[in-house]
Amino acid sequence: MEKGQHITDIYGQLVFNDKVMRERLPKDVYKAVKKTIENGSHLELDVANSVAAAMKEWAVEHGATHFTHWFQPMTGLTAEKHDSFLNPEKDGTVILEFSGKELVKGEPDASSFPSGGLRATFEARGYTAWDPSSPAFIKDGSLYIPTAFCSYTGEALDKKTPLLRSMEALSREAVKVLKLLGHDEVTRVDTTIGSEQEYFLIDKEMYKQRKDLLLCGRTLLGAPAPKGQEMEDHYFGVLKPKVSEFMHDLDEELWKLGIPAKTKHNEVAPAQHELAPVFETANVAVDHNQLTMEVMKKVADKRGFACLLHEKPFAGVNGSGKHNNWSIQTNTGLNLLNPGKHPAENTEFLLFLMAVISAVDKYADILRVSVASAGNDHRLGANEAPPAIVSVFVGDELQAILDSIEQGKEFTESGKVQMEMGAEVLPHIQKDTTDRNRTSPFAFTGNKFEFRMPGSAVSVANANIVLNTAVAETLEEIYESLKDVSKEDIPSAVKELTKSLLEKHKRVIFNGNGYTDEWVVEAEKRGLDNLKSLPDAMPRWISDKSIELFTKHKIFTKEEILSRYEILLENYSKTRHIESLTLQEMVRKDFLEGLIAYQSDVLDEAIKKKSILPDSPCSLESHVASKLDCVSAKIIKALDKLSEDTAEAEKNTDALSCAKFYQDTVLADMEVLRSYVDVAESMIPESYLPYPTYGEMLFSLR
Ligand code: ADP
Ligand code: MG
Repeated sequence: MEKGQHITDIYGQLVFNDKVMRERLPKDVYKAVKKTIENGSHLELDVANSVAAAMKEWAVEHGATHFTHWFQPMTGLTAEKHDSFLNPEKDGTVILEFSGKELVKGEPDASSFPSGGLRATFEARGYTAWDPSSPAFIKDGSLYIPTAFCSYTGEALDKKTPLLRSMEALSREAVKVLKLLGHDEVTRVDTTIGSEQEYFLIDKEMYKQRKDLLLCGRTLLGAPAPKGQEMEDHYFGVLKPKVSEFMHDLDEELWKLGIPAKTKHNEVAPAQHELAPVFETANVAVDHNQLTMEVMKKVADKRGFACLLHEKPFAGVNGSGKHNNWSIQTNTGLNLLNPGKHPAENTEFLLFLMAVISAVDKYADILRVSVASAGNDHRLGANEAPPAIVSVFVGDELQAILDSIEQGKEFTESGKVQMEMGAEVLPHIQKDTTDRNRTSPFAFTGNKFEFRMPGSAVSVANANIVLNTAVAETLEEIYESLKDVSKEDIPSAVKELTKSLLEKHKRVIFNGNGYTDEWVVEAEKRGLDNLKSLPDAMPRWISDKSIELFTKHKIFTKEEILSRYEILLENYSKTRHIESLTLQEMVRKDFLEGLIAYQSDVLDEAIKKKSILPDSPCSLESHVASKLDCVSAKIIKALDKLSEDTAEAEKNTDALSCAKFYQDTVLADMEVLRSYVDVAESMIPESYLPYPTYGEMLFSLR
């Protein structure tokens, strides 16, 4: 920001937001657009024409020359194709044009996007359709119009369409339940999301020297540095000046795009950081998270960094996730997961709480699928991130309330406790009634749930599609069991229902430490799934239960479900395949060269020594040379095995068995090969190594 400028001057500068629309659109057009945004009503073409004209004018004033329909194909990334506003006139001049039709609909060739068999290549046509509920913005000289992407025959080829469908389903079911509870004033319920984004920053020059980071986003080899995260000195630590400058730039770029970046800090692992925005409506939050990732990379590059968004860029230190804070809020402003002052008497809260808990228990396996990716497999289930077992943390106070409901007893509030800090000068702070739990995959955190399983690199759309749909389903069940109850009997019926839901689903509640082996055993006893990897989890996606859930609420058709199954499995296998080839190349071409050069120098040294000191046993040289020789033999053998198994994997034609083969055999081979290379690496001086080490990458930033 320039001197004298305030956040308020730049915030939303590049966004065609509500304020701009109010200023620039004729009143009736503005009203019509607002109605579409708020109620999802259809937008007439003349309204679209008027919006397009205003958008173009505003965009051109802000230096834009092009517009693009911006969409989120099933790659998990974003896609764009730019058209200029330019329209040549006969007299050799141009005029700038942008019609309502161009705003509302685009026709990108869809044949090169993954469709999982939904569309043959010859049926290339795809459509993008404007999503007026997510504001258009300007980036790099183009007007970006958020859009949904579907095939010629109407199947969703993206992540936005099912997300919007799931938000509508949840809203519909929640409104029905709220009506039974006497809330006639509520006409819509919004899903709100705040997704905290973790990332690593390393020096750009070092990044460029690592083929594994360049091609796979994660290191495939590298001996651990002498220091890792054991000193716990990075978490919330003082920001290094260059990192602080990066974060400052990043905030500014995000603010201009109307992304409410709020909190920034160092994370647990060295070189790891986090950014948290203020929560927004789900589809806007998802769009903004996609943009945040992109801007992070761009700003990092400008500042001489590489921003790593992979879930596990470095072995041995924490990986990165995307904590998905989730709640539901009525259009009258009521957060349905806010317990209020007296949660035990807050029947709405308890009912919605139980709707979420029931949904998580019933659809835990599908939620697990929603966060499955090759990258996240390295994180979930390892001893750092949430375990692969889905469970819900509610905390002490809520647990006590739930216990009292179950036992049919009166709940007595413990009351707020004042913190005793032991120094009079410090302010008096009220203690929260429950401590935090960092190990739970799905934790109640005061007035929202925090789903901690999503990986850092991929869109959070999937996780929210599943969560919204699962909760919509349990709300519908709740509605069905209450709909014939008379008004007077509702309070007691709600109590009974809450109790029976609790009895049925309490097995998913776990307030203890999710990292322990005891929990794995206990979870198994409770009948909870422990789906450790993507190939383990994927069959659940096409189970009858899953198909019934999604088709009933019209989130996915059966074909759309199957297509996503194929795409996820294929993507997994392709990722592992590229990793395998990259690792082989790094070892064969680069690492072995360094190893041989060093070994040769050591042996030359021994020969030289022998010629001058014929009696010397050359203990040091022989020790090093023979150790390297021994490990070299293992490296070659492991390399051959990896290469053979990778060729074998390619022969697999069934998507699931192919992914399983990559998981069980190829990935395992890669680990073995890596373990030998890492042993050798730790013996070889850095000057012989073809790439920077863990120590250099993780600790060299100033
Ligand atoms: P912490 O994780 O430390 O509890 P906060 O309470 O500040 O941090 O919230 C973390 C994230 O949760 C932020 O992105 C915040 O905007 C988001 N959040 C807060 N309230 C809600 C809500 N009602 N719905 C969705 N997200 C929320
Ligand atoms: Mg958090």
